[in-house]
Amino acid sequence: MTDLDGTAERVVTCSEVTRTFSRGGTGGWLSGGDRRAETVTAVADVSLAVSRGEFVGLAGPSGSGKSTLLHLLAGLDVPTSGTVTLAGRDVGSLSPRGRTALRLDHVGVVFQHFHLLSSLSARANVAAPLIELGHSKRQRRERATTLLERVGLGDRIDHKPGELSGGERQRVAVARALSTAPDLVIADEPTGELDTATGARVLDVLADVASDCAVIVASHDHQALDRVERVIRLRDGRREDEGADATRGENETMSGHE
Ligand code: ADP
Ligand code: MG
Repeated sequence: MTDLDGTAERVVTCSEVTRTFSRGGTGGWLSGGDRRAETVTAVADVSLAVSRGEFVGLAGPSGSGKSTLLHLLAGLDVPTSGTVTLAGRDVGSLSPRGRTALRLDHVGVVFQHFHLLSSLSARANVAAPLIELGHSKRQRRERATTLLERVGLGDRIDHKPGELSGGERQRVAVARALSTAPDLVIADEPTGELDTATGARVLDVLADVASDCAVIVASHDHQALDRVERVIRLRDGRREDEGADATRGENETMSGHE
């Protein structure tokens, strides 16, 4: 989707974002209580921008900071320094409650391990986020049914997760991520548990989702990275693709907007 002037709408940007964690030295029993705190820099000085309609991959080896960066982009976490702007709001300036509300309005999340509720049907899983938004039961059921049809599961509506294959479960999870009509969908290793054929089907669905959202998929799997339109590469928390997109993004902003 584009604005009237033809420029794609920026959904999420981050500017010089760093996230550090302290490990050990907390006095907890796991750390023995006597070790020095060690600072781990999970994400270092990352800038990027993703617009509606984009299907973007986030690549890098295990431990390179992909999940940490996704959590920052989704407003699940706040940066140690730098700025994340999600749907026009500075995430770091919001209270935890404000961030929860922002996420509910703008973000859908898909996890590697599906995170479906096993006692609920596919439809009830997809409808669950809408309870928070105050939709009626009838509205929730209608929307969940439409979304399950969209991901090719119109014939699995009443099945529980235990009665579905891995690929079907992940498509339920994508439908659930879409239930609140998000602007940004993030998926963390969504095909990590799936074989090639079912993984391809999930990627088809995510590519379709990117027709009206911004979609960011973290993966170290070629199948996923071959499918996206562009790839942001991390190594040791830094962008390895030398911030090329960030620069391009700034130029676009300057030339594309008044
Ligand atoms: P990836 O998703 O690419 O595997 P992560 O974002 O999970 O990478 O992790 C990046 C680095 O940050 C790793 O060294 C990891 O151990 C560290 N890290 C991530 N989350 C935490 C945390 N909550 N506390 C301490 N260290 C963390
Ligand atoms: Mg990860």
